[in-house]
Amino acid sequence: MSYDPQNVFARILRGELPCVRVYEDAATLAFLDIMPQTEGHTLVLPKEPAATLLDLSPEAAAATIQTTQKVARAVQVAVGAEGLLISQFNGAAAGQTVPHVHFHILPRWEGTRLKAHAREKADPDQLELLAERIIAAL
Ligand code: AMP
Repeated sequence: MSYDPQNVFARILRGELPCVRVYEDAATLAFLDIMPQTEGHTLVLPKEPAATLLDLSPEAAAATIQTTQKVARAVQVAVGAEGLLISQFNGAAAGQTVPHVHFHILPRWEGTRLKAHAREKADPDQLELLAERIIAAL
């Protein structure tokens, strides 16, 4: 898939759009999903421009999964998740809506259902408070 440098995550990475950041290093960025499917829904992406996992260099793929593991641990502590669903979509046919590769970290609890994908915006103040708890757990 060719890379669209105007996609929303590319614009966040360039600082043109805001995000509720929880972690950043030289190769990766993690921030809260603005339309969370569950409390603590967090996105992890490489800074390398790549539309899908298949387009990503091995080095960036390694960095992204390492950040996903690190941030997932903090998210689990911050929200007291019983389980964590890690998901990643490649191509519109697979459900990908933003064409910059990213991993979803979705805290799960027995008996609770996920909200619909990319449907309902969260309260920005609540997201900021949640980000503080995740950062404190990193
Ligand atoms: P996907 O369908 O895997 O491409 O997921 C894209 C995700 O990005 C969805 O869960 C959206 O809610 C989320 N999203 C879209 N725009 C933003 C944004 N500006 N900041 C944070 N999350 C976003």
